[in-house]
Order: sequence, then C-alpha cells, then structure tokens
Amino acid sequence: MGFFDFFKNMFKKQTCAFCGGECGVMSRTKIKGDEYICSTCDDMCSRFIRKGRFTKDELLGHMEYMKRCDRIYKEVIEPNDKSTINDILPHPTKVEGIHFFDDYGMFRICHASRDRKPEYPVELFRYDQVAGYEPYLEEREASEPGKPMEFRECGLKLTLVGGLDVPNEIRKGATGHPYITDPIKVPYAKSAYDKENAMHELERTVIHFDNIFGVHDDRTALFSFGMSKKEKRDLMGAVGFAKTAMEAVKVAKAGGEMSEEQIAQVQKNMDAINDAQTGGLSVYTRRADEAEAKIK
Ligand SMILES: [Zn+2]
Repeated sequence: MGFFDFFKNMFKKQTCAFCGGECGVMSRTKIKGDEYICSTCDDMCSRFIRKGRFTKDELLGHMEYMKRCDRIYKEVIEPNDKSTINDILPHPTKVEGIHFFDDYGMFRICHASRDRKPEYPVELFRYDQVAGYEPYLEEREASEPGKPMEFRECGLKLTLVGGLDVPNEIRKGATGHPYITDPIKVPYAKSAYDKENAMHELERTVIHFDNIFGVHDDRTALFSFGMSKKEKRDLMGAVGFAKTAMEAVKVAKAGGEMSEEQIAQVQKNMDAINDAQTGGLSVYTRRADEAEAKIK
C-alpha cells in the first residue's frame, strides 16, 4: 500500500458494524477484525473498556451486559434508593464521583455530562469486583521557575479483579469483572479551585470503601465497650459453624431428611461462616446477587 493509499483509506468513510451507519475518521473506533464502531454505538458500551480489544460479537454481548446493568439500576436500585445528593461523592455536577448503593452491594461512577443523557446505559460495579482503591494526585511543574508545583488533577484509582494478573493477590470472596482489565481513574477535580473540596470527598470515599472491605474492623474505639466488627464477625462465624454441625447431627438422627426450615437455617449459618472468612464482603456479594437475580 502506497503512502497516498494509506491516507485515502484512513480518511475514507467506514460503515459501523453495529448500526450500519457511515462514520468518519473522527467519530469511529476500529475494533478487532478490521471493523468499526461509530461514536453513537460506542456510547452504549462501558467508558472503561478498550474497544479495539474486542470483536463485533464480543461487543454485542457487552452491549447486552450494559443494558442489563441499566435495568438493574432503573428497575431495582433507583426506585428504592434513598440516598440524597450529599451521599453522592462528590457532588454529581462536578467532574466524576462514586455513588454507593450499599443495600445492593454495588456502585456506579457518576459523570457530569454523561449522566444527563438518559439514553446512555448506567454501568454498575459490584463491591466484590474491586481489587484496590487509592487516591491519586497529579501535579505539574510551575509555569515560573522556583514556584511550587501546580495542581492538575486528583481522584480515585480503582483496580478491578479482572485487571489483576497475580492470582494470589485476589482477595477472598472477590468476583472477576467480565470486561474491564485496565485500572479506572475517577477524576474528582481538574482545577485547583475545586481541589480542597475534592480531597475532602475523596477521603470520604476511601473511608466508605474501607468500611465495605472491613479495613479498620480490628480497631475498637478507645473507651468503647464490646467487640469490634471483626470480633463480632468471627464469633458469628464460629457460632454459625457450631450450629451447622449441630443441625447436621439432628438431620442424621432424624433419618437424613432435611426440612425446608432446616435447610434455611443451615444456609444462614453458612452465610455467617462465609462473612467471617471474607471480611464481611460476602454480605455485599449476596446483596448484589439478589439484585442481579431480579432482572432476567
Ligand atoms: Zn453505529
């Protein structure tokens, strides 16, 4: 292919493999298998996947996945969501932020302009898909020499379980993400003016994630009586184990048949054991599973 042909091809209009529409060089992305996706169809996909890594069939599956996320959000979560604007971290009119849905074991990433377009599917993430979360701060050299570094951006870096190559670093009870492999950057502020507020909100986000993952569960507040969250969980796990064993003995004595009631009790005890072993995360796994099961 000559130099001229190369440019001719590059600027040639292409057909979108999904809607069949024509797309110019600025409004399309090449996908696997020498096909293209137009920017309109691209908006039906996650912002966090690299389309070039997927074939047309894989992306069609991904769009179905996104539609399902959107239905879980609009049919299960949104009608019951009691969170006020202050719970959304940070305020959604700013750059981006995390909106937690503890009752459903999921969260979404707010986006100031995308959220105003109801035709775009809402993407949900499960708490048990999170492998890591940490704040980041980007600065640049001052425009004048000798001046302090200038603020550029701050936010939260999220790593999902699918993005980890080291299997033994995957937390117990975690679930792999089916599509996203790269770390996600969630910018909370892009101007120095918003920095202080954003840093405060970032801290709240990290504390919330810490609570979900039981990071500070070992700590019992000074002068407080009773057990820490972790101690309670461990105890419930031990009780659950003993109860399950006792239930099994009863069943064996009764001739091996388990009643519905006994099965439910064993399940409850098993859940308590699970919670103790996964640092409380399995509570959220169950909630997310339940929310997903409501949408077929
Ligand atoms: Zn299209």
